[in-house]
Amino acid sequence: FFAKPWVFVRGVPALKFLPPEGPPEIAFAGRSNVGKSSLINALLGQKGLARTSNTPGRTQELNFFVPDGYGVVEAGLPPIVLVDMPGYGYAKAPKDQVDAWTRLVFDYLRGRPSLKRVFLLIDARHGIKANDEEVMKLLDKAAMSYQIVLTKTDKIKAPAVDKLVVETLERTKKRPAAFPSLIVTSSEKGVGLDDLREAVLTLAE
Ligand code: GDP
Repeated sequence: FFAKPWVFVRGVPALKFLPPEGPPEIAFAGRSNVGKSSLINALLGQKGLARTSNTPGRTQELNFFVPDGYGVVEAGLPPIVLVDMPGYGYAKAPKDQVDAWTRLVFDYLRGRPSLKRVFLLIDARHGIKANDEEVMKLLDKAAMSYQIVLTKTDKIKAPAVDKLVVETLERTKKRPAAFPSLIVTSSEKGVGLDDLREAVLTLAE
């Protein structure tokens, strides 16, 4: 179904608007500017699909995407649903916006049986930051399986990527809900997209 176009089906600004539990969901999370929109667009081969969702003042929503044809009830349930989560850690975000984000995201991560995995995007130039640690802590507490995805790896040299992979695995290996392997990507160069697709496929119904 990666050959098909995907469509945006729903933006969820609060938990009460979540679709009923159903097909497996995979969520993409990460700090603002980590390259999340670019990666989702590259993965699905559609340039304008995921918008940059961290613009200050914009409503923070969980954005749901499904393969085309499954956007209507009559077509049956999609085999997989991708969820673009609003970016976190935007320095200038007002406090009430941060609080709203925290509530929405944490509640979703904690209490959503349909959610099968979170791809936690980490910018290869920065590595794991304090707020990424906070999110990992929460995921561990919720026993929500997450896999690190390194982004923008074209921005650093190959040996630095190798070093970062080793360091990141070292930092996550004792974390109970962290997946034992990570995925190295560059949306710019098309690196790692097949690995990402394979990971998605293993979770699809
Ligand atoms: P988001 O805020 O996490 O959705 O991030 P975006 O996808 O909007 O990307 C943030 C910035 O990083 C943009 O200027 C992108 O062009 C750039 N970017 C995203 N992915 C890559 C990548 O793989 N390589 C490089 N060099 N730049 C990237």
